[in-house]
Amino acid sequence: MSVDKGLFNPRQTDTYDFYEGKPAPWNSEEEIERLVPTHCCYCGVQCGMYLKVAKGKVVGVEPRYDFPLNHGMLCPKGTTAYQTVNHPDRLTYPLMRRNGKNSPLERASWDEALDTIARRFREIQGQHGADAVAVYSGSSMTNEKCYLMGKFARVGLGTRHCDYNGRLCMSSATGANDRSLGIDRAANPISDMLHSDVIFVIGANVGECFPIVTSYLWQARDRGAKLIVADPRQTPIARTADVFLPLRSGTDSALLNSMLYVLITENLVDEDFIGARTNGWEETKAEALKYPPERAAKVCGLKPETIIEAARLYGQANAAMIYTARGLEHQSKGVDNGVACANLALATGNFGRPGAGYMTLTGQGNGQGGREMGQKASQLPGEREIEDPEDREYIASIWGIEEVDLPHAGYPATLMIPAMEREEIRACLMICSNPMVSLPDQHTVERALRGLDLFVVIDFFLSETCELADIVLPGNVWAEDEGTTTSLEGRVIKYNQAVEPPGEARRDWEIIGDLAKRLGKGQYFPYTSARDIFDEMRLATKGAKADYFGITYEKIEEQNGVFWPCPTPESTGTPRLYEERFGFPDGKARFHPIPYIPPAEEPDEEYPLVLTTGRVIYHYLSGNQTRRTPFLLEQAPCPWVELHTTMAQKLGINDGDWVTVRTRRGEMTVPALVVRSIRPDTLFIPYHYGHTQAANILTNPVLEPMNKIPEYKVCAASAVRAERAPDWAKDLDPELLKQARRSRKTLPSAGANVGPRVPGVPGA
Ligand code: SF4
Repeated sequence: MSVDKGLFNPRQTDTYDFYEGKPAPWNSEEEIERLVPTHCCYCGVQCGMYLKVAKGKVVGVEPRYDFPLNHGMLCPKGTTAYQTVNHPDRLTYPLMRRNGKNSPLERASWDEALDTIARRFREIQGQHGADAVAVYSGSSMTNEKCYLMGKFARVGLGTRHCDYNGRLCMSSATGANDRSLGIDRAANPISDMLHSDVIFVIGANVGECFPIVTSYLWQARDRGAKLIVADPRQTPIARTADVFLPLRSGTDSALLNSMLYVLITENLVDEDFIGARTNGWEETKAEALKYPPERAAKVCGLKPETIIEAARLYGQANAAMIYTARGLEHQSKGVDNGVACANLALATGNFGRPGAGYMTLTGQGNGQGGREMGQKASQLPGEREIEDPEDREYIASIWGIEEVDLPHAGYPATLMIPAMEREEIRACLMICSNPMVSLPDQHTVERALRGLDLFVVIDFFLSETCELADIVLPGNVWAEDEGTTTSLEGRVIKYNQAVEPPGEARRDWEIIGDLAKRLGKGQYFPYTSARDIFDEMRLATKGAKADYFGITYEKIEEQNGVFWPCPTPESTGTPRLYEERFGFPDGKARFHPIPYIPPAEEPDEEYPLVLTTGRVIYHYLSGNQTRRTPFLLEQAPCPWVELHTTMAQKLGINDGDWVTVRTRRGEMTVPALVVRSIRPDTLFIPYHYGHTQAANILTNPVLEPMNKIPEYKVCAASAVRAERAPDWAKDLDPELLKQARRSRKTLPSAGANVGPRVPGVPGA
């Protein structure tokens, strides 16, 4: 790749002096020309930052004090995010295979690449129908691009198969919000945490996955709030919890039902709120009364008195918040688990007030906006329904097409793979996604993608998935375009452009516009800027649940973000939902009884342990960016398996030994990290790595029945000491590995210094 490496300094981190608590003098040799206000490209917190620009390059970062969420803080990912912009691995020209699947990816011109794509898409659709081509989109990109991808699929390609990688993270939360509350957005801004008496975190590793949110937890604690944490691992925040519930993976709804049982039997429910603002209580109450703490304790692997203590603490609060994330949602019962959280909050009247609510912590940078802009299989912009006649008419009118020409619902991303396998889907355009790391049952995914007649990927690095593509188009990173995202709070914020894309790389919306022209649909995509797309998107969401109509780029900058719904130009947005009404036509929330159903796979003789997977602080999602950031890679250079001291002794495994972990899908060999901060019956492997290091070789592809999220967080597994290290270990510096293991063990989440005995965990 022809990249100017002159300004790329992988060792440079940032110019913020954490000890002095203020920006440090420039530590770059370059003369800084501009500070561009923008936001971190990684997690859903979307911290405010300035990018430092010198000689047309992004050379550093400053945290923003003026952004109300991070107040001058950034986590290790945020401080190094800028290093991806000038990275030598950036894709700077189109690549294509000219002589079939086994030929190499070779440099191509934009005309050659785009002409080939348009011709092949037309041929495939001519032969097999419009739905033979699918769009697989992403959520770590702006609202404008998410909106564009949904429109391009339905109007540019005329296919019903359009979905996105948020299917793998946010779809359980969406299902729960839609079923219980009627609006798919966080009920509260993060600052509400400071008004809570009790904070209940279940299935969310806040310290590692949303590091900056941790500061709100500590501030709330300083004001006297109590903390309850439920997690199979003693995560960093669990160390200081008032009540820690180290539950068995996949048993969340049994715990939540049992807490509701205690609230009911000890008269801690809010009958007035239930009567005035909800429906369906009696059925839910009857179901919860089947879960006395003694029964739930056996299911969850907890002590009954710990469940009672947690329930009392939660039930006696004036204002309590529940925070969840993928730990609770990455399950085949993920929607049920979210509904069970909402049941608890509704039963205690914990909605519509400062510090009272239930919200999911969104993982992807634009995991919120990405799920409301119309790129989901059954959705149109604004959280409109693709099968709703009025929604169809309205969006068709905005897009300038007839309603009959608007395709109906297609396959969610997780069902596209089997459709590719049976050759129903024969071509795919993918953007901002890396399923060769992120989807479960990797062997099947690889076979499906390799079998496509045409596989096109837009990306800025050659990801594991790009390696299988027939054509790769170089797109932009967040610093090279403007546009909006919607943070985990529901706050719409704006990225500002700092530099131009490198080499021949182009902005993604320009690539899509050019492709539309070549498909004869250019008149529907006349945009000359991201702002043009945003303005159309505002109209498309007008009057919908996720109403952005009153939001403008100027208002976002003036207000430091705008919470949707913002229905009119005069509106300043809606930071807290449900103060008077829930999102259903009668304004009332809905209880749903949630019977506990075990995970799809439970331990047995052959696979006696439970495997769970997740993130670590140093990496983001599939690691496509963070594994290219030297500082982050050094901290976590490869996956490992965390296992408890007791289990390690039983299996004859020492810290640092190579261990082979097996499930019914496959096996992988990784180093052991022996800790006391995990249930003895549980293994944990981080999922940020590719090829033979991908934890998703092992995970169970079973899907949640309604919203089709895979069960990443629980499957049956075995672990044995390996005879030898895997081949990839040859490329690892043993000293670095040792240092990373040491660093991980002194991180409180896994550390040797976790101190107190884990209550309720046998053998701890
Ligand atoms: Fe970026 Fe999230 Fe870290 Fe903030 S907390 S710096 S948004 S990764």
